[in-house]
Amino acid sequence: MTHPIYNFSAGPAVMPQAVLKEAHAHFLNYQQSGMSVMELSHRSALFEQILADAEASLRRLMAIPDNYKVLFVQGGASLQFSMVPLNLAHTNRVAYIDSGSWSQKAIAEAKKHVEVTVLASSADVNYSELPQVNIVEDTYDYVHITTNNTIEGTAFLELPRMNDKTILVADMSSNILSSTYNVTDFGLIYAGAQKNIGPAGVTIVIVRDDLIQTQPLLPTMLSYDTYATANSMYNTPPTFAIYMAKLVLEWLEAEGGVALMEERNRAKAERLYRFIDESDFYTSPVAPTSRSLTNIPFLTASPTLDKQFTQEAAAAGLVNLEGHRSVGGMRASLYNAMPLAGVDALIDFMSVFAKKNQLMEVSRG
Ligand SMILES: *Cc1c(COP(=O)(O)O)cnc(C)c1O
Repeated sequence: MTHPIYNFSAGPAVMPQAVLKEAHAHFLNYQQSGMSVMELSHRSALFEQILADAEASLRRLMAIPDNYKVLFVQGGASLQFSMVPLNLAHTNRVAYIDSGSWSQKAIAEAKKHVEVTVLASSADVNYSELPQVNIVEDTYDYVHITTNNTIEGTAFLELPRMNDKTILVADMSSNILSSTYNVTDFGLIYAGAQKNIGPAGVTIVIVRDDLIQTQPLLPTMLSYDTYATANSMYNTPPTFAIYMAKLVLEWLEAEGGVALMEERNRAKAERLYRFIDESDFYTSPVAPTSRSLTNIPFLTASPTLDKQFTQEAAAAGLVNLEGHRSVGGMRASLYNAMPLAGVDALIDFMSVFAKKNQLMEVSRG
């Protein structure tokens, strides 16, 4: 390759090169076992160590207290849309903050099982800003929030104030480990790995242990208790995905942890946003006070030009810049593994593309 590809996909997303190289080096023969990690028994000492290391690393990175369990689940963040109400809605009264398409999906799933109150929504402004959440007076079984709205590009970098009894549940799929959050502010956090942790196939659930109850009537695989009791090994876990997650988590620690990642992510996002805001060619659909550090949507003057942009960008090695199919435009996802050099390459390309197409507008006019 003459120049690197920069992958701006929202997920599955770019992984650290160092991690891919390490996995490659050990792919055929993991720790003198003569086998690939993919071939190891999940009951083997070697795999048990991988699982323990992954959990220990995540606990250090997020300062997860001992009274929280870390569970490795399959079914994606989307299965958590069902598991959360099925496991936590004891009085059938739950509340959701509607900040985007993923919140809407979580709400729709919860409504199949329990009574849902939507505390606040920014649907009326196309989710271009975060909804204003007043202090929650009522006591619900939980209040659900999507910390980062992957499609719309907004994020709750500060949490809305809750009353002391509120159990906050967060879908953190697209900014877990990108920004610092206090685990103790939440009853439960979940995140599909494929945005910011590793490959698709494993979902991480961090849950306060007093919220885990035996649920005899729930399908075994939908009960948090099953995963907590069996150390995520009731059945065969996604062993290779967990191995890759372990490597990414250890890479994150070696790089300097979440605080340093947040600093880098802020620098990357600010650089791109400064360029967009100063440009008279590109616009941002996101209110400045609500902006995500990890997913940055932007537009040109027309869908035709947007399409030309993503095609020419891809030809220049800047791939997966299409906005989500539901909103169009462009979106640059700048997760932890996206280097600042990738953002600079994108800005250079945007600058050249703008000059070229502005000139054409002038000569046409
Ligand atoms: C990607 C995403 C999901 C869906 O994740 P799956 O693992 O594909 O089910 C849910 N919530 C958010 C915030 C996401 O970014």
